[in-house]
Amino acid sequence: MTDETQKDKLRQHFARRVTTQARVVLDTWQKLRESPREAPAFQGDIAAATDKLVRYAQRFEMEKHAVAGQRLADTLAQWPAGTPLNDEITNTIQRSIDELGQSTLRRTDQDQANTPRTFRRTPVYVALGNMEIANRLIKQLEFFGFRASAFPTPDALMDACALHKPETILMDVSFGGEEHQGIATVERLQARHDTPIPIVFVSDDDGTIETRLRASRCGGEEFFYPAVDPGQLIEKIETYTHGNTVEPYRVLVLDDSRAQAKFMETVLKKAGMTAHIITDPMQIIHALEAFTPEIIILDMYMPGCTGMEIARVIRQQDRLHSVPIIYLSAEDDVGKQLHAMSLGGDDFLTKPIDPKHLVATIHNRGRRARSLLALMIRDSLTGLYNHTHTLHLLDQEIVKARQKHQPLCFAMMDIDYFKKVNDTFGHPIGDRVLRSLSMFLKQRLRKTDHIGRYGGEEFAIILPDTREGDARSVLNEIRERFSELVQPAGDREFNVTFSCGIACWDGEMSPTLCERADRALYKAKAEGRNCVIAEST
Ligand code: GH3
Ligand code: MG
Ligand code: MG
Repeated sequence: MTDETQKDKLRQHFARRVTTQARVVLDTWQKLRESPREAPAFQGDIAAATDKLVRYAQRFEMEKHAVAGQRLADTLAQWPAGTPLNDEITNTIQRSIDELGQSTLRRTDQDQANTPRTFRRTPVYVALGNMEIANRLIKQLEFFGFRASAFPTPDALMDACALHKPETILMDVSFGGEEHQGIATVERLQARHDTPIPIVFVSDDDGTIETRLRASRCGGEEFFYPAVDPGQLIEKIETYTHGNTVEPYRVLVLDDSRAQAKFMETVLKKAGMTAHIITDPMQIIHALEAFTPEIIILDMYMPGCTGMEIARVIRQQDRLHSVPIIYLSAEDDVGKQLHAMSLGGDDFLTKPIDPKHLVATIHNRGRRARSLLALMIRDSLTGLYNHTHTLHLLDQEIVKARQKHQPLCFAMMDIDYFKKVNDTFGHPIGDRVLRSLSMFLKQRLRKTDHIGRYGGEEFAIILPDTREGDARSVLNEIRERFSELVQPAGDREFNVTFSCGIACWDGEMSPTLCERADRALYKAKAEGRNCVIAEST
């Protein structure tokens, strides 16, 4: 690498730090806006994040960010400490935030600021001996919205990793030309990082147990031998890039002791969780609604009522049946603990609490709760929301759209001539196509959009805060790109298209909205398939 490109890379690296910090500021503001009652609790966070942004921007000489950040810091200073946000201050801050937003959005984002087209861009490094295969794979990955780069030599890969840690690496066991040189490179790489990079290994000629073991010991999550099917590879890569973006657990703590509550809050936040603390049991109903916790921690003894009584009230609500409840108490009488568990608790922690124990318990409970929830609401083939949950989300979004006076679109899509795919290439390849469309949608739609598998080869998409015209252009773009995607089937290849119908919410209930989208879909099929039709057109 020449000096100049080296410097360029460094500059890019620092620029990324500044924009990442700017996004932290924007996200904190978003959170603050979403729960105005909690606003004072985030006041310190947003001020600190803004400060850091200004310092970074100055240090790395990013003028626009420095100016926008400083202006935001000044407006934030007008917000008196510990007070709720009034409209005037909100508007002043919002203006500075918008300004910062403008300098932070990438140009492509800016063109699409109000349309659901912000691709998730995840860096993936490809280290394969055969550059031609590598480049073809990168093209495929780009179709799915990944940012992928290939490297010709182990040294080039090492340099790139030093500048920017990738989310995953696709690595040939003998990358670099010598036997096991790829594995050796990974071993050196992993030694530099605290948390290992997930690696997908491939090998043309060596599938021995010794090689597999060595690969697995240095972070190899997958081992493909001998032939590599790009479809399968992309699915794996998608798995490992998703793993890194797990949402923090949302934990609600009810403890009448302020000191204990504060301690819990600190421990949970340090562990990367989102904590919401209340000390008055009578606040529980409001907290459950406003915060929607995934895990609840209850003190056993409080003035006015016990944790067990609160648990019973919580369990009386259907939708809270599976939220884990953990009791917290100085109680060490096993009989009483068992009794408490029989009243709707899942676990018991004895004070004084060891932070490590607390965090581990929450992780275990949270993971289980999430996978149970996933079983209930997700489709097992594609990981998308199932039919029932999609409709549930649609009802929720209709309520929100009504409250916020925002538009809302609902789209249904159906793969064209899918029966023929199954008949020609077999059911497993058909399944692969369903997964590839679902990945495609996940990568290309916004995080706030909901994607469901409505039935067999039918998908449903909920696009909140989206007008019909925007929905149509986004889905049409997805349709076009998807139809270009080459679907591999052994040594053959084929293309698949879908038809899509859109209905824009018009104040009606969900069944009518679905019916209208369905009618539009039917029209799209009738008009020759491979097109997007909005109900009103
Ligand atoms: P059209 O363009 O009119 O939608 O034609 P089509 O062939 O896609 O529609 P049709 O309803 O005739 O066939 C749908 C096919 O989808 C039939 C069914 O076997 C297949 N299918 C449904 N669910 C799955 C699945 O989970 N996996 C696979 N591989 N195929 C599925
Ligand atoms: Mg169908
Ligand atoms: Mg079909």
